[in-house]
Amino acid sequence: MTKPCRLLAALLLLVPGIAFAQKAAVLLVPDRVFTATDRAMHEGWKVLVADGRIVAVGPDVAAPAGAETRALPGTTLLPGLIDLHVHLFLHPYDETSWNDQVMKEPLALRTARAVAHARATLMAGFTTVRDLGTEGAGEADAGLKQAIQQGIVPGPRLFIAGRALVATGAYGPKGYAYDVPQGAEEASGEGIVAAVRRQIAHGADWVKFYADYRWGPGEPSRATFSIDELAAGIAAAHDAGRKVAVHASTPEGMRRAILAGADTIEHGNDATPAVFALMKARNVAFCPTLAATDAIARYGGWSGGAPEPEPVRAKRASYAAALESGVRMCVGGDTGVFAHGANAREIALMAAWGMKPLDALWTATAGNAALLELGDEIGAIAPGRIADLVAVTGDPARDIGALERVAMVMQRGHLVRAPGE
Ligand SMILES: [Zn+2]
Repeated sequence: MTKPCRLLAALLLLVPGIAFAQKAAVLLVPDRVFTATDRAMHEGWKVLVADGRIVAVGPDVAAPAGAETRALPGTTLLPGLIDLHVHLFLHPYDETSWNDQVMKEPLALRTARAVAHARATLMAGFTTVRDLGTEGAGEADAGLKQAIQQGIVPGPRLFIAGRALVATGAYGPKGYAYDVPQGAEEASGEGIVAAVRRQIAHGADWVKFYADYRWGPGEPSRATFSIDELAAGIAAAHDAGRKVAVHASTPEGMRRAILAGADTIEHGNDATPAVFALMKARNVAFCPTLAATDAIARYGGWSGGAPEPEPVRAKRASYAAALESGVRMCVGGDTGVFAHGANAREIALMAAWGMKPLDALWTATAGNAALLELGDEIGAIAPGRIADLVAVTGDPARDIGALERVAMVMQRGHLVRAPGE
């Protein structure tokens, strides 16, 4: 965009109600297009956008009279990427430990960070994310979501889980002589249904449960909620039209979550083939959060080479078992454990550890959109879909690292990151 154009665009943004800037059609001309309606790269295809939606895609799309043509040489155009496991209110644990973030950082500081994180996420080409818990920042995610929706701050389309739910006494911060504020809402027994409904009333789009956790330092994770507790909470969420994500790393925590009706299970660090078979039979999706395991191992001093630390080795094994099982996969990095804006690390690791790159791209777009029940609106480049788009330099089917080389981001047809910025 030339400087005068940029100035004009900035002025138009300042005038409420003027929408003609987005009504002009734009023909995008990358080297190739990944539509996510199939699992292939289409060399030489073009995409026509108007009124915030995709109008046409294919090899012979022509620019209508008055349309702007935007050449994107050397790039691949993809649907806006989707990360289904972020924590916008957390920042990397090697900067500040989780305990100190929850206990010492004022809510205004955490919210200011979340605003910056939302912008970094969008600029990285992630136009939709599911935030799975504010980790002690109350219901501030609901306000952040409103600020993005109202155009006050830039950010991705947000699906939020509010405070999330843990079994009483199971979570953290731990080890204090007095009761201290916790990183999620505690509930047990009949209180669980009330807590689910209260969280939904406060804006939760998804309900998040922690089905297992370490009761004390140095202990292994153990299942926390009973299966009846999970089933009652999940039923209350489903009655309200909300889907449910469950943190579970142990086979028993996962088994309870599956049988209780969870929609997605997060982490699955110690999952077994039998658990994945049960997930597949019940159509529960698996978000392996490989990038979080990788990041935490690196914070512990691992440089990425051999020998791999035990948690990384175990993660590779459980992920391989998940791929082998054919369980429905989702892409969610637990982003926040590592830097917001580096969301593509999860896609890269899923490919590096055994998923075909085109399958990883499909899972991060059309697959994730379907899990959000938005498969007809986002996650693919097809006529009528919302024009959330990202162009990256190179071909991510050949080099998945290309996802980190973002050349352009379009959100609802608006250019939010222009080439060269
Ligand atoms: Zn998480």
